[in-house]
Amino acid sequence: MISLLVLGTGGGVPIPGRAPTSNLVTVDGQKILVDLGPGALSRLVSSPHGPDSLDEIDTIIFTHLHPDHCNDIVHLLFAMRCPALESKMPLLMMGPPGLTNYMSKLKELYGDWLNPLHRQVVITEFSSDETFILENGGAVTPFIANHSENRFSKHNFGYCFSDKTGSKVVISGDGGPSKTLENVAKGCDLLLIECSTPDELAVDGHMTPARVAGLCNVTRPKKTVLNHFYPAAAELDLAKLVYDNYDGSVVMANDGDFFTVDQGK
Ligand SMILES: [Zn+2]
Repeated sequence: MISLLVLGTGGGVPIPGRAPTSNLVTVDGQKILVDLGPGALSRLVSSPHGPDSLDEIDTIIFTHLHPDHCNDIVHLLFAMRCPALESKMPLLMMGPPGLTNYMSKLKELYGDWLNPLHRQVVITEFSSDETFILENGGAVTPFIANHSENRFSKHNFGYCFSDKTGSKVVISGDGGPSKTLENVAKGCDLLLIECSTPDELAVDGHMTPARVAGLCNVTRPKKTVLNHFYPAAAELDLAKLVYDNYDGSVVMANDGDFFTVDQGK
């Protein structure tokens, strides 16, 4: 079984009620934070679907290193210095090439404040298409998203999560249409896809309702969930706009929404 707790549905510009991007994906019981935009941690501990304690968080995966996707890592690591936490499990931090350099720059600023009291931080930089096997037989496979290079990393990733029964959840990360995204998302159970702007404000490297519809007509996900809204998009009924050109299941996510997929049932 795979579950998706959407912690933040906003983008790089603040919107009332929508934190920047963050998600908690649980694959056969293993909890994985996927991005950590500002405000993610308070959303995480506020949700009935969140962990009982930060001790349950062993894995963090970043799609890319823009601030709206990773700034709460400072908050999380500092919080893990709390003596009340007990886990001694390694904290796995994974993402695109450049993650090690990003973390070393933060360490230059914060020093020991970023060392969890009882836990070792282990950083892994993914190569695209390199599948990482999860604890209980599931897997996560990165793919290159169509998004601009940033100061730390040439590549931005999306991720495909699968469980041992064959359930498949795809998280697009930030990115415009691409053949790679089409191939990965084809026939998935759930597609969490960014929809940053209305069609009339379309920019390279991001999706719009018409672009999402075009992708979904090719890939036919069982459910499509929209996120990563900038202010002009957040004001619209984006699912309705996707339905103008697509007849599948589409929802516009809110912070705190929770979804499950289970092909084993
Ligand atoms: Zn973003």
